[in-house]
Parts: sequence; structure tokens; C-alpha cells
Amino acid sequence: MTAVSSAKRPRVRFAPSPTGFLHVGGARTALFNWLYAKKYDGEFLLRIEDTDRQRSTDESTRAIFEGMEWLGLTWDEEVVYQGANVARHYADAHRLLESGAAYRDFTPQAELERLRAEAEARGDAFKFDRSLADLSDAELAQRLANHEPYAIRFRVPEGTTEWPDLVHGRIAFPNKDIEDFIILRSDGTPVYNMAVVSDDIAMGITLVMRGDDHISNTPKQILLYRALGADVPQFGHVPMIHGTDGKKLSKRHGATAVGDYQHQGLLPQAMLNFLALLGWSPGDDTEVMTVPQLIERFSVHGLHAKAAVFDTKKLEWMNGQHLAQIPVAELAAIMAPLVERAGLSTVADLEARHEWFCGVLELLRIRARLTDEIVQQAKPFFVESVEYDPEAVSKQWRDAAATSDILDATRERLASLEAWEPAAMEEGLRKLAEERGISGGKIFQPLRVALTGLTVSPGIFDVLRYVGRDRSLARIAEAVAYLRQST
Ligand code: GLU
Repeated sequence: MTAVSSAKRPRVRFAPSPTGFLHVGGARTALFNWLYAKKYDGEFLLRIEDTDRQRSTDESTRAIFEGMEWLGLTWDEEVVYQGANVARHYADAHRLLESGAAYRDFTPQAELERLRAEAEARGDAFKFDRSLADLSDAELAQRLANHEPYAIRFRVPEGTTEWPDLVHGRIAFPNKDIEDFIILRSDGTPVYNMAVVSDDIAMGITLVMRGDDHISNTPKQILLYRALGADVPQFGHVPMIHGTDGKKLSKRHGATAVGDYQHQGLLPQAMLNFLALLGWSPGDDTEVMTVPQLIERFSVHGLHAKAAVFDTKKLEWMNGQHLAQIPVAELAAIMAPLVERAGLSTVADLEARHEWFCGVLELLRIRARLTDEIVQQAKPFFVESVEYDPEAVSKQWRDAAATSDILDATRERLASLEAWEPAAMEEGLRKLAEERGISGGKIFQPLRVALTGLTVSPGIFDVLRYVGRDRSLARIAEAVAYLRQST
């Protein structure tokens, strides 16, 4: 690896406002920044933008931490709370005032509202007229002496503000379209653009990657960087996320909180893989990627400008792919607490029977899309006796007398086996079928219901093996008793 001086190491950040849960769109933006930092040996920082005291909550901050931790999007350095930096935002705004890059605006709120209403009535977009703020030195001195409140406005220079966006290419805004925007309100609080630029400079951010709903803020922010004498970072605006109907992703489309997916049986690596493909692709058809592969293949060149589509069906498919391919021991570590939570076993017991548990998971994971499904399908391997699904009963146990008879013979044959091995079971039961002149299915299907209560399960010999000899034989005997009683 080539040595990079520490000054060149990229520093990126995720800057959520803690006004709700961690949205999948936010998680996706966090992920792109995280991947960028991992790929280019940089730092990924987290800044909680809690300056809106009214809307920010500790609960939401906690949900952001939890969501990021679940996804494994670990951040470097201490979390930065924007609200703790208002003194610096204030000082930076005043620095701009002193340098002449900004000016005081004493216009009362009511007057601004009147002007705005007038402009609207004319069908014009309201734009603050700088001459309104012009005051003679004497007037200014007088107002300051009277402690009249004023906002600080940025004096937008002439020209064009442009940047090479990492996603969209060159973006340019004529400065004449940008109003002399407020950077410090008359109550002394900074506005969003001032706080963000002040913080991004203080944090040494080299690339700002965020949703493209922020594109219109970027020229203002670039103007602020320049006026503050700071290096302008790179910018990349990643696309919005839509539902399958092409509309902006919202609750109507289903869960939009990362936490909901965590509790719906998704693996974090599948969620990450899915999120990574919302606005990025590796440049070929590869879809299923592990986290190290995502890091390896991530590049800003693969970012798309077009809105991405959030398709929950694809997310479930992706999860199924990951369930099938992760090392089984890793899956066991994920599944053990879920199996415990379902009341089927304990983590300690599963650790003690690690190999057995991994064997069961190997059987179930190829059929499942969600961890919840694995838990459901794992039940027959844990419970003492199973419940019979009425549909399975009416389908496979229609003739109770004949079925109990065949199950009884099946139990006897299995009980006589020397080794509890799939190969021996199969041989024994196929022989039984032959002797009776029936197909193997006529034995295996009723047996499946006896062992699992269901019509679908992993291969019957695998089920026998993992349910175990004693429990299997007992279950078959129970089924026989049940059927005899019902005739
Ligand atoms: N707090 C802003 C948001 O949640 C992000 C600002 C930024 O990334 O610059 O949309």
C-alpha cells in the first residue's frame, strides 16, 4: 500500500437529525460514507444534528445508535453533537460579519412577511433585497446601542457557484438566484447551513456525501466555506429512494425504519447488501456480496443519479441468499438468541449442542428467507411433541386406520435399526414399502406429519436424524395413538 499522509486521509460523516427513527434512506447514506471510509482508509464520523431542540429527542438518537450498531456501521472518534457547538457556529457567523462577507439585517419579521406576501401576490418568488438592510453608520450605532435584534445575512457575491459532484457531474447555480440567506437568526441561533459548514470544517470533512434533496443547500455551503477561508470539500449527492410504485418511499410502502427490519428476521449483512444496491452497483451483475466484498468493490463511479427502488421482495430474497451462504457457525450465533426468545431452547443449551444445532440450521436455512422462518421451522426439532396442522392431517392422514397401521410398521422398522443413520433408515423404509407394495411416498408423507405436524419439512431422513431416535420413535407412537383414537 502506498503511504498517505494523514492530511490526505478522507474524512466523511453521517449527519442525521434525531427527529425520528433511523430511516432506511439515512442508513443507506451512512453506508455509502462508511464504505468510502473503509475503502480509502479514511475516517467515518457521526454527527447528531440536534440543533432543532423542539424536534430532536434522545429516543431518536438512541434509535440511530442502535440501528447503526446492528448494521455494524461503526464510527470513528467521539460522536459529535451539533447542539454542543452553537458557540462556534455563532462565532463563525460573526467572523463573516466582521470580514464583510455578511451583514446585519434589522428588518422586523412582520415586515419580511408583508414583503413575502406581496411578492407572492405578484406571482414572484420572494428574494431579500439587500438595500433593505442598508443603514447609515449613525443609524447602525443607534440600533446597536438600543440592543435591537438583528439577523446576520450572508452577502452572496456575483458569479456562479459550481462544483464537480461525484454523482451528478458538474452542477452550477447562478448566484443571482441565491438570496442573501440568513446565517444567524435574530435570537442568536445558527441556521442549518451555517451549523453544517462550521461543523464540517471543524471536523476536517473532505467529502460530503448525502441525499440529493440537499443539492440546493450546497451552493450556499460552498459560498460559506470560501468566505470562511476554508477548503471546500468534495460533494456527492446520492439519489432518493422510491417505492416500487415510483413514489418517494414512505410508510405506505411498508416499514421504513431500520429497527423494523431488525425485528423482522433480517440479517444485518443482507440489509447492508440490499441498501448498498440502492443507488450503487459494482459495475456488473453481481448482487449478493458480503461486507468485505462491498468494501472491495465500492467506488463512487458506481453511484447512480437516478432514484433507487426499495423492493421488499428483493430484500427478502437477498436475505435468503445470505442465510444460505454465511458460515453456519455465524448463523448459529445469530439464531441462538432468537431460538431462545421463541422459548424453544437456551443459548447455553445450543452452545452445548453446537454441532447438532448447526446441522439443524443447515437443513433449514436453504428453505428460509427470514430468520423468523427458521425459528418457525425449527420447532419440531425442539418441542416434546408436535401439533398437527389440520391441513396436513386431512391431506396425508385421510385414511386413519391404514395410516396408523403403516406408521406403526414404520416405527417398528426404525426401532430395529442398529444405527440411527439416514442411509440405514432409507434402506429399511424402502424395503418396508416394497414388502407392502406401496410407494415410498406413502410411508414418508404420513411420517413427516407424525414428526413435524406439517406437510413440508427438510428431507425426512434428516428430520429423523436431528429429531433423534428416542424422540422420533415416541412421536410416531403418539401419532399412531392419535389416529387409533380418532377412528
Ligand atoms: N441533518 C441533515 C439531514 O438529516 C443532513 C445534513 C448533511 O448531511 O449535510 O438531512
